[in-house]
Amino acid sequence: MSGKAIAQSHFTRAADLINLDAYMRRILLQPFREVTVEVPVRMDDGRVEVFTGYRIQHNGARGPCKGGIRYHPDADKDEVLGLATIMTWKTALLDIPFGGAKGGVTVDPRQLSRLELERLTRRFTQRIAIVLGPYRDIPAPDVNTNAQVMAWLLDEYSSRHGYTPAVVTGKPVSLGGSLGREEATGRGVMYVMEEYGRDFGIPLAGGRVVIQGFGNVGGHLARLLVSEHGAKVIAVSDVTGGTVNENGLDIAGLLRHTAERRPVPEWPGGRSITNEEIWTIPCDWLVPAALGGVITRETNAGTIECKAVVEAANEPTTPIADRILEERGISVIPDFLANAGGVTVSYFEWSQNLQQHRWSLDEVNTELRQAMHTAYAQVRDMARLRGVPLRTAAYAIAIERVAEAERLRGH
Ligand code: NAD
Repeated sequence: MSGKAIAQSHFTRAADLINLDAYMRRILLQPFREVTVEVPVRMDDGRVEVFTGYRIQHNGARGPCKGGIRYHPDADKDEVLGLATIMTWKTALLDIPFGGAKGGVTVDPRQLSRLELERLTRRFTQRIAIVLGPYRDIPAPDVNTNAQVMAWLLDEYSSRHGYTPAVVTGKPVSLGGSLGREEATGRGVMYVMEEYGRDFGIPLAGGRVVIQGFGNVGGHLARLLVSEHGAKVIAVSDVTGGTVNENGLDIAGLLRHTAERRPVPEWPGGRSITNEEIWTIPCDWLVPAALGGVITRETNAGTIECKAVVEAANEPTTPIADRILEERGISVIPDFLANAGGVTVSYFEWSQNLQQHRWSLDEVNTELRQAMHTAYAQVRDMARLRGVPLRTAAYAIAIERVAEAERLRGH
């Protein structure tokens, strides 16, 4: 099932719940603007290679469009649209004055040299610059893009429009990035787990956590859960496989190990497991923090043994798997609530750029905690009131906010 189809299936369930008008469903299901560009890049050996890139603005009723840019061989229009749509709901749910967008280039960046990557980024920026801007559309990093890529984007855009740090977030701190942005998504996941755990009697202290994916989100989350709550992270994995230690992994040591580009299964402090085995380990919290579509009817939805699934990745659970987990009494904390910490601190970064003022790390984390706790409480209350899963409640709140903005603007 494509990202777009997954997003539409969740949308329809919530739209039915709030009796959304047919015309509004059409506005909210269709993107506002889709841009497809061809991106010619001079390779190091003198050849010109042409890549296809996308920037899709799903909805901007509540503010400038906002969303990351990913470089991936599988990035296509459907995937980018699905992710752009989620950004609309995520920013609305967190009550951030942004809409939703996403960008992508169909490329395997591991095949490019650093100079080729820079040329690709600059040419892609030139091609889409006409639809970007601090009050129009603000990119950020996503899969296989990082602060350096954002710095090139900023430089390319600013060379035409004058210095414009607010055109992009997730920048290096020395170019106007926000303190706390790098770990913000993992930290935000932890803040939601704190509140959910308190409500449903699943303490983080000593709680058994399994995390698929040990990159930016999974790595920071694991570290913070251990250092700030004394959780027991018993298994983690990366693309090559996983490692398990029933007594709790030494996460600080494992982070040093992976920082040296060594695979997780080679960590001597645990027993190595395959990528399939990670789903068979009984735990309190199961956190997919890698890819979409990893919890499915065909593979693991019927056998996973945990108290809650925390969707740190985007769209890790297919709609059918979601129903199976619901029937089995396993709660799912939905992606656009759980992983909204990144865009929330991106909003703080944009605000700091516009104010030309830097917040302290304490200010960033305090505001982030409050934003995540508030959004979670609103979703929990709606779920209780309407007797629906957290995901449907989150969609209902977000859709209603965007629909209200559309109506007030005269649609
Ligand atoms: P990342 O590239 O830093 O890390 C991804 C991790 O997943 C790596 O450890 C990688 O080895 C692992 N992985 C890849 N394929 C795997 C597989 N088949 N099995 C097991 N592990 C696999 O990416 P990230 O920034 O941590 O993002 C992870 C997820 O979180 C993505 O779905 C992304 O869209 C989502 N997300 C990220 C952010 C953010 O701020 N970084 C914000 C919101 C959502």
